[in-house]
Amino acid sequence: MTRIGRVDLIGGGPGPLDLLTLRAWRRLTDADVVVMDRLGPVDIRSELKPDAEVIDVGKHPGHHPVPQDRINALLIDRARAGLHVVRLKGGDPFVFGRGGEEVAACLAAGIPVEVVPGITSAVAVPQAAGIPVTHRGVATAVHVVHGQTELTASTRAALRDEQVTTVILMGVSALPRIVADALRAGVPADRPVAIVERGHHHDQRTTRSTLGDIVLDAGRTRIRNPAVIVVGDVARADLLLPSAGVANGVVP
Ligand code: SAH
Repeated sequence: MTRIGRVDLIGGGPGPLDLLTLRAWRRLTDADVVVMDRLGPVDIRSELKPDAEVIDVGKHPGHHPVPQDRINALLIDRARAGLHVVRLKGGDPFVFGRGGEEVAACLAAGIPVEVVPGITSAVAVPQAAGIPVTHRGVATAVHVVHGQTELTASTRAALRDEQVTTVILMGVSALPRIVADALRAGVPADRPVAIVERGHHHDQRTTRSTLGDIVLDAGRTRIRNPAVIVVGDVARADLLLPSAGVANGVVP
């Protein structure tokens, strides 16, 4: 009988290979099968065993090429064949990554599964633009949400609270709705907003604005996915460097 394999659910971080943890990289280099996403590290072939199988199940916003239950079935199937399966995800598997569902599916099927944490874009993408999500005296809490559903009461409260940074993932296409909802909820129009596209990539771009102006500005600069939206005082351009502002993506 074939020995049962296993699944490692690995957080790949925001994109560059050297933002993988050492543990994630070690698992990756030992994998027989890598099931990967569109976000996170994509140039991994040279790190893998020569005969490793790579399966891309990358999702684009709005269309889902490989449904979640098919991904779960794929992981289980390959592990049952005795293989070491790495499920490589962007950022951290447990931050809007559906990692919990994949772990539950493996456990239900009796497949050993382990999670390797990754650097989440919720923190690392603002960071790449010089934005600390907390900052002494400015922001004492962080509220992380995805932008794909109606704002909840807690998100409205976070947006209104001057001491809270709100970080929105998957929010680009819903930006006009999010902004309208926030303004209706009484968030001041001059609340700083920054949108960081393709954080930690060579073509990273940061757009800074305010809640009142961001929809126009985002339209003008044609903001695209993947991007992280940061709302709060930490998004001010002069936060870390009062006179000159922080250069795009670089903290001097
Ligand atoms: N598990 C991931 C998040 C998955 S949701 C994590 O912890 O980072 C996907 C969203 O993450 C994207 O829509 C975008 O909002 C954000 N994202 C991921 N990588 C990004 C990057 N390099 N630059 C900007 N946004 C990114």
